[in-house]
Amino acid sequence: MTDQAALGALQRYFGYDSFRPGQSGLVDAILSGHDVLGVMPTGAGKSVCYQIPATLLPGITVVISPLISLMRDQVDALNDVGIPAAYINTTQGGDEQSMVFAQAANGDIRLLYVAPERLETDRFRNFAARVPISLVAVDEAHCVSQWGQDFRSSYLGIGEFIAGLPQRPTVAAFTATATERVRRDIIGILGLREPQVTVTGFDRENLYFDVLKIETRYKAAWVSRYVAEHPDQSGIVYCATRKETEALAATLNQTVPSLRAAAGTDAQPGGPIAVAYHGGMSADVRNRAQRDFVTDAVPVVVATNAFGMGIDKSNVRYVIHHNMPESIEAYYQEAGRAGRDGEPSRCTLLWNESDIVTRRRLLDNDYENERLTPQEQEIVRMSKRRLLDGMIGYCRTTDCLHTYMTRYFGEDTQRDGRCAGGCANCDSTFETIDVTDIARAISRCVHDAMYDHDDQGRPSATPVRQGFGSGKIVGILRGSKAKDLLAMRLERCPSYGVLGAVPEARVRDVLSQMATDGFLAISEGRMPIVGFGRRAAETVAPDFRYEIKRVERKMKPAASQR
Ligand code: ADP
Repeated sequence: MTDQAALGALQRYFGYDSFRPGQSGLVDAILSGHDVLGVMPTGAGKSVCYQIPATLLPGITVVISPLISLMRDQVDALNDVGIPAAYINTTQGGDEQSMVFAQAANGDIRLLYVAPERLETDRFRNFAARVPISLVAVDEAHCVSQWGQDFRSSYLGIGEFIAGLPQRPTVAAFTATATERVRRDIIGILGLREPQVTVTGFDRENLYFDVLKIETRYKAAWVSRYVAEHPDQSGIVYCATRKETEALAATLNQTVPSLRAAAGTDAQPGGPIAVAYHGGMSADVRNRAQRDFVTDAVPVVVATNAFGMGIDKSNVRYVIHHNMPESIEAYYQEAGRAGRDGEPSRCTLLWNESDIVTRRRLLDNDYENERLTPQEQEIVRMSKRRLLDGMIGYCRTTDCLHTYMTRYFGEDTQRDGRCAGGCANCDSTFETIDVTDIARAISRCVHDAMYDHDDQGRPSATPVRQGFGSGKIVGILRGSKAKDLLAMRLERCPSYGVLGAVPEARVRDVLSQMATDGFLAISEGRMPIVGFGRRAAETVAPDFRYEIKRVERKMKPAASQR
């Protein structure tokens, strides 16, 4: 049962009637002195979980938060509702800091926000040794883990800071990260004591999820049509690169008016349809783009992932991903910007196999971070690979997309797999195709490709190369006459042409799915090579069967206005 005082504080300060599921358990645990780890997505209401206890606990609450701009927003919002709060950060002069320290020491402040670096300063340590601290709340706690996306070495000092306090406060950590490894690191590195772990808020019932496999060259036309057919709605389209955002915004401005004119639904004659937004634009242009979108002057923003942090627009009716993001965490956060007002909204992910190739390549280049040792870089890269695998799994699954997502984050929704807000997989029927022969042929070809063959098709005594990339493997199997293939005499390979009658896209699909399922392994680097995965031996077993599922029929959801 929720603490009555806590509920009273929620009503008095924030005007909410009740806690959301998960919030009350966390608040109760904190109030009774238990450490907690709250795993909740942005917007689910983490802040309330420590702000309410902060108003009721005898000592001060120290909130550790990585971003100065967010700190200021939070403090302003708290002061507005009558909860005395302040921050100490590098934007302040010495006098201002002294004043805040004095207020805090007098008990005039309930919550004090600081960046993790601050904990290492003598001044703060002296302060913390003198003033009773009831609660330390750690926001974005995944930053302690090298296995996370945003490792910050300054987070490593938090555990030691807490351990050095004269009286150990309750510690409440919050994150939106799903990986077990990161959660373990949070508990270990922050030194949480038998924490209550609560995962909540990931199931968004008003969101309809859709995944659409579509060739790259058709993507822009698909987005244009979608935007044209939803004239009164506001939407975000996420692209992988800055260049793409500008190109797609231009395409939308060009094509959507004529599509609408043809359909007789021109809702905003004259005005622009879409505006681009990315980190490479000047602050002026970017701010204008953001303002135009937030005020509904322009209905669609085409953006990189730079867009969204701290943008509060509740009536976004759709979020379209033009490319596959790097992780479910990233996808969830971006797609989750749809339907903040609780109204039905749609999240569509457009993808194809080349997105996977691009992502693998980016992942490889992207981890070259000077601050990390080679060993640390390896850890980051491995964990990013695993995150990417989760994302690929989402694209390929034929199961309920809501269920996939909540399971991924570890939330127990007790829905028994029933679809929460609707999803394209639950609205589709799938046909199962037996591709055992194709899979066997691919496996054989991966082996053959390591050898040279004489004109009788006999292999060299030893392998002459590690293998080829997927393009060449598919080319060999389909009997391609490409010059480079013939120059290497690959027409002598026994696998040459054995899948000549199978469409190239099908061969590619099967190869790609075999890599996801662990039968093949695709190496990293600029020239990825197809090799064998941990389950490779299964493909030669007599009872090996392999299937892929294809959408047979995608039905329009009942509420087609979504
Ligand atoms: P987070 O820190 O997880 O990103 P916030 O704490 O900022 O999320 O909360 C997101 C929004 O939800 C805020 O507008 C907040 O006021 C609102 N909110 C939080 N808890 C409740 C509740 N119990 N009932 C209604 N609204 C809530």
